[in-house]
Amino acid sequence: MMMPVVAMLVVTVSNGNNHLRIRCGYQRREEQQGEEAKQNLFHTSSDAPAATGVVAPIPYSLLPIACFSPTPPALQSTLPMAYQVLARKYRPQRFADVIGQDHVTRTLLNALSQNRIAHGYIFSGHRGIGKTTIARILASALNCRTEIGSPARPTPEPCGICESCTEIKAGNAVDVIEIDAATNRGIDEIRELRDAARYRPSRDKYKIYILDEAHQITDAAFNALLKTLEEPPDHIIFMMATTQPEDIPQTIRSRCQHFSFHAVKLDDIIGQLRLIATAEAITADDATLALLAEAGDGSMRDALSIMDQAIASAPTVSGHPKLDAAQIRELMGSVSNVVYEEILQAVHANDSAAVLSIVGKLLDAGNGAPQLARQFVRYLRNTIVAKITSLAPEAEATGVAADLLQISPEERHRAARSAALFTEEELSRFLSILLRTFDELGYRQEQRFHLELGLLKLVHMQRLVPIEELLSQLGPKHTSASTPRPAATPSAPRATATVPAPPSAPPPASPKLTMTAGSLALASDPEPEPEPVSSGPQLVVTQPAPIGNLDLATLQSACIAALAAVKGQTSASEQIEDCAFSLDANILTIQTTLSSHMLPVVLNADAERILQATLRAAAPGLKLKLLPGAPEPATTAPKKPRAATSGSAAELAQKHPLVQQAMQLFSAEISNVIDLRGKE
Ligand SMILES: [Zn+2]
Repeated sequence: MMMPVVAMLVVTVSNGNNHLRIRCGYQRREEQQGEEAKQNLFHTSSDAPAATGVVAPIPYSLLPIACFSPTPPALQSTLPMAYQVLARKYRPQRFADVIGQDHVTRTLLNALSQNRIAHGYIFSGHRGIGKTTIARILASALNCRTEIGSPARPTPEPCGICESCTEIKAGNAVDVIEIDAATNRGIDEIRELRDAARYRPSRDKYKIYILDEAHQITDAAFNALLKTLEEPPDHIIFMMATTQPEDIPQTIRSRCQHFSFHAVKLDDIIGQLRLIATAEAITADDATLALLAEAGDGSMRDALSIMDQAIASAPTVSGHPKLDAAQIRELMGSVSNVVYEEILQAVHANDSAAVLSIVGKLLDAGNGAPQLARQFVRYLRNTIVAKITSLAPEAEATGVAADLLQISPEERHRAARSAALFTEEELSRFLSILLRTFDELGYRQEQRFHLELGLLKLVHMQRLVPIEELLSQLGPKHTSASTPRPAATPSAPRATATVPAPPSAPPPASPKLTMTAGSLALASDPEPEPEPVSSGPQLVVTQPAPIGNLDLATLQSACIAALAAVKGQTSASEQIEDCAFSLDANILTIQTTLSSHMLPVVLNADAERILQATLRAAAPGLKLKLLPGAPEPATTAPKKPRAATSGSAAELAQKHPLVQQAMQLFSAEISNVIDLRGKE
């Protein structure tokens, strides 16, 4: 990042024959003091080849940042050799050196060779993947003084040796202005920038503004920039680097070329780390480099920062720093994924005690609960990917698996081993639980307990029957996956509702629901039995039998007929078909399948009057009692198809076998039915 320019002088001196024009920008550099520094403060340059430098007194706290031909003498050598972090030291200087962003560099190189230069560029993507680097390289390539096609510059890549290139590399070119938009985000700063943009570049072809963290610029400030972007002077180019391109107003975005950067692939990062390790004479094996690269999480700069830190704390072996995985894990506060594999094994073995003991040891060793949860989430994610891509434990990842699993081969094997223990659904549920746990850890006290609870839930998860499994067994078309839809083999224990009963069974089969341990099955059972889950009174009398001199079956038929004869009582009539009639002394109980709030709707006052009249006709003095009830599916099979086209929607819904099963399964009632029949 360039320091702010505090002074810019254009000094013309003349000796009568030669004119010397000197242009110098200065930046404040406090540490550059002392006599030696003073003598090197000022470097002159000239438009005229034979010119000699002439010096005007300049405050010594100001250091020239723009020095023109001839190349500044010995300026660099007077500066103390400071340690440069790896990310800066190995910052790419050519498009070809940028790793993992081929789609961007290719396009830019083409644009440069065809001279199709836009006035606004947006470089977006994750941190530390080369946005600002590419902006600088592009700036060098645009302002490079060596012509494309010349021996020093055969391609559009910047030559790297001319003054423009070297100055941009050093971060002190006058015409390439880098602005940290995070701190210069207001309208005043942008107005200043806009006003300065009107002036032509001091020397180079383009005046280039690189706005870092451009999404931080306020809307008002962006608006101030809009006009400049819309009709930019030929010499102006804006490059905006941002991690959040969606925060840049659409009006700005539509005037720029937008390049979206990719996360850098693990193998690319490892390759780069290996090159750097070799160049720096650092000993590090592949597993260590892979760990560093993983820690970078797609960001080259992050990986290099951790490497810097690791080198600083590494022991020296025969004069060279030696990195190893355990030391780096300690540095990052992470633990080996071995423990997560062990935890998943314990979960698979249903061993809560083992899970708690593993996590207890980790916490006692000083690892933070949030960090452990975070790492576990990542591990589970990789496990799921291994499962989904059917990665075999000892196989090499290829294709999608390799793309999605940006981890070392050893870690891929580990993830695949864990994946083999569980189904995809189980792993997804684990991840969901762990993500929630991780969220909660952020704001809860007693983090240890929350982490333990989250892990125990994984064990419990194993014992629960998932709702998907229950739902998948609902309905004839959704029987268990092992039964192919058209097959319905005669020996299948789970027969569908449409499978006819064995011919040997005397009465028509009445399919009924049976609840077995955690699973629901439709079974053909010729023997009507009391429903185990229903709490209502005796309600299964599917074979009406004469009691006393009253034939209940005949009575039921009479009721059905009486209701069917009255307009608007079709639903009630159909409902009575499904009811169980029972007689106790002089009270006739009609056990309906309707819920208590559906009962008065379907069997309304009119219907009840008709029923009363029918009863009186059959046996005077007989009292009627209508009971709401648990759904009784025993009589749903003989339902005529007409039921699907007549009657109220609510009743139809109530009678649908799938709905009934669902209501029974979840002890639920229908709360709402939307009737779409008229709209078809
Ligand atoms: Zn150049």
